[in-house]
Amino acid sequence: MPQQIVKRRSRGFICVNAHPEGCRRNVERQIAAIEGSSDASLPPVPGETFVPHNVLVIGASTGYGLASRITAAWGYDARTLGVFFERPPDDSKTATAGYYNTVAFDEYAKRDGLFAAHLNGDAFSDECKREAMALIRRDLAPLDLVIYSLASPKRTDPRTGVVHSSALKPIGQPYSNRTIELDSEKVVEVALPPASEKEIADTVAVMGGEDWRMWMDALLSEGLLAAGACTVAYSYIGPELTWPIYRDGTIGRAKNDLDNTALAIREMLAPKLDGRALISVNKAVVTQASAAIPVVPLYLSLLLKVMRRKGLEESPIEQMRRLFADFLTVNQPIESAGADEHGRIRLDDREMREDVQREVAALWPEVTTENLLALTDFAEFRKEFRNLFGFEVEGVDYDAPVETDVSW
Ligand code: NAD
Repeated sequence: MPQQIVKRRSRGFICVNAHPEGCRRNVERQIAAIEGSSDASLPPVPGETFVPHNVLVIGASTGYGLASRITAAWGYDARTLGVFFERPPDDSKTATAGYYNTVAFDEYAKRDGLFAAHLNGDAFSDECKREAMALIRRDLAPLDLVIYSLASPKRTDPRTGVVHSSALKPIGQPYSNRTIELDSEKVVEVALPPASEKEIADTVAVMGGEDWRMWMDALLSEGLLAAGACTVAYSYIGPELTWPIYRDGTIGRAKNDLDNTALAIREMLAPKLDGRALISVNKAVVTQASAAIPVVPLYLSLLLKVMRRKGLEESPIEQMRRLFADFLTVNQPIESAGADEHGRIRLDDREMREDVQREVAALWPEVTTENLLALTDFAEFRKEFRNLFGFEVEGVDYDAPVETDVSW
């Protein structure tokens, strides 16, 4: 395909195309953030700390998974396998952002002599797991770190063939609150009916821990995990303001299931490998997954404003640098490294600070369509969202033609 000029195309708020050069810059910036880290514990002292050498990241092409993979590779020289589900380019369409992110990841990994393998497929399927196992056995075994960072609207159960679709709804009673209607950029009242039992079960089937467990079962039974191997999945809790739709809603049920799965995997790994299974509760950030949750865009627009003003804001790469440096590679029980009473790593500590949440809650009822840009950081939210697709990225000439038909 000849080079072409790529302008952002949107359906409502969502971008339906992606800019390869913008995506490359995003990846480059994240690598630079890790390489330029002044963090004393990066890189860790060999022998005294847990150093991940061989890392599998499931959900590795965008958001927290991509940031985890970059941290492992450029922070610790780890060999990585990334699993993700992204659309390649074709004659009429650009690829998805996660695809171009991976092209860039691969390019920089080759430049820096880092081993990187990629698997583009449905991580929920047996076939993808089989392919991953073969690849790991050949190039990456034994794994010492497995990051589970999938966010998906649906999952086909590999045993039954049933397609489960998640529903982001409250449980038990209807919920209404203000939100930003992203397509019209208006502040509106949203009313959500409570989820049915089936919707709750479906959401747990998609975003709960069953698939994580299947991955870990397969890796353990095939002997592909190192002694002391660690696995981490990501969760979110958030403030009371969002609990009816998040923590106490369908997605919260799925995250509870993920918590329980961590315990089950821990029991499975501990006796055989002295391995660990952890939950990291991350900060709310702008990703394709989070923008889809009702109420979250308004919450994030306010949170960005408050946290930026206080100098507390962190991007996914900064969160992941902290996860690795302060928790994963520290050779002490997770409790003494600062886990909560349920043994979860809390990277949301700054977001959950009392003063931050007090200010967000005070601004919340004041926001209207008219003062949206003044009172909140919606402009930054929108920019960060477009950045995810490689648009409005600093330093990119959007009038210059780019090659869209690229691969790793
Ligand atoms: P994201 O949308 O940026 O990334 C999702 C990843 O999953 C992508 O790499 C995508 O390709 C991959 N994926 C989706 N379906 C797949 C499939 N069937 N097979 C293989 N790969 C598939 O999402 P994110 O926001 O980074 O979320 C990752 C995790 O972090 C989720 O568990 C989420 O709940 C959690 N989390 C997110 C936030 C937030 O604010 N974004 C906060 C805390 C925790």
